[in-house]
Amino acid sequence: MWSKIWRLNVTERVRCFVWILAYDRLLTNYRKSRMGLGHAMCNHCGNVVETSMHVMRDCSLVTPFWLQVVPMRERSTFFTEDLQQWIITNINTGRRGNNGSAWCDIWATACHCLWTWRNKEMHDNNYVRPSHMVQHVYKIVEDYSQARRVNELMRNSERFFTQIGWQPPCGHFVKLNTDGACKDNNIAGCGGIIRGAHGEWLGGFAKGVGVCSAFAAELWGVLEGLQYARRLGFTAVELNIDSITVVQVIKTGRLSSPIGLPLVKQIRRYLELDWEIMIAHAYRESNKCADALASIGCTLDREIIF
Ligand SMILES: [Zn+2]
Repeated sequence: MWSKIWRLNVTERVRCFVWILAYDRLLTNYRKSRMGLGHAMCNHCGNVVETSMHVMRDCSLVTPFWLQVVPMRERSTFFTEDLQQWIITNINTGRRGNNGSAWCDIWATACHCLWTWRNKEMHDNNYVRPSHMVQHVYKIVEDYSQARRVNELMRNSERFFTQIGWQPPCGHFVKLNTDGACKDNNIAGCGGIIRGAHGEWLGGFAKGVGVCSAFAAELWGVLEGLQYARRLGFTAVELNIDSITVVQVIKTGRLSSPIGLPLVKQIRRYLELDWEIMIAHAYRESNKCADALASIGCTLDREIIF
C-alpha cells in the first residue's frame, strides 16, 4: 500500500495526507478527545463520534460529495469498507473518474479537500465550502497532471534538470525531512518525516516549540528529527532540510549570531554519534510533508508521533 501511495499522481502534500490517514492519525475530534482535548462528536452531525471514517466518508456533509462521483455499482463497497480496506480499494482501482483522471488521484485529492474544508469551517465561522465541490476537486487533479506533463517536457528538453520532487534515499539509508514553521505571533513548531527506499512512511512527528524565530524552529526540527530517528534505531540517515543557511550552519558549526548556538551544538553532538548521517539541502517542493507537519506543530504544546 505504501508504494502505491508514493506513486499517486498528486501533490506531495496530498500524498502526505493519505499516509497520515492510512495510519489513522488524523486529528479528528475522536482522536483529540482521547488526548483529553474536547469532545469526540462531529461538529456537524452532533451525536456521532467523529472518527476518520466519519469525517472522510460517512458525515452527512461529505456523503453527498461521494454520491456525485462514485458510480452506483461501486457504492455498496465504497460505503461499507473499514478505513484500511477503503484506502486500499480506492488506491488500487484501475478505473477512471468522470473527468477521465485516474480514480485513485481523484479520491486522494478529494479526501484532502474534504479534510481541509472541515478544518477551515472549524476555525472560521464565515468560511463557506466551494459550491461546486466536485468540479473544484477535478480542477486540482487536472492542474497537477498538466503541470507534471509540462515538467516532463522540460526534463526531456533540458540537459540539466533539477529534480525538485521528493527522491527516495539510496542504499540502506532512510530519509529524514525536517522543517520548522513560525506563525504570525512567533509561535513556532517543527515537524519531520522519515521514509524508506520505496517512499514508505517509517515515522513522523510534530511538536510545538514555543516562541522563537523561523530559523530556530528549523534547528529544532533537525534536533528533534535526529533524536526521533535515533529512538527508532536507524543507523544510516539522509537528512534533508529546505534551508541552505541551516544546512551550512550545521555542517560548519559557524553561526554569525549567538541565537541558536546551543541548538547547533546539540545537533552537532548528535552527528558525531556512531551512525551515518548525510546532510543535504532539499527544495521546498520536496519538503512539503515536513512543512505540513511543522505547521501542525505550531498548534501543539506537546509532541505528536504519527
Ligand atoms: Zn458528521
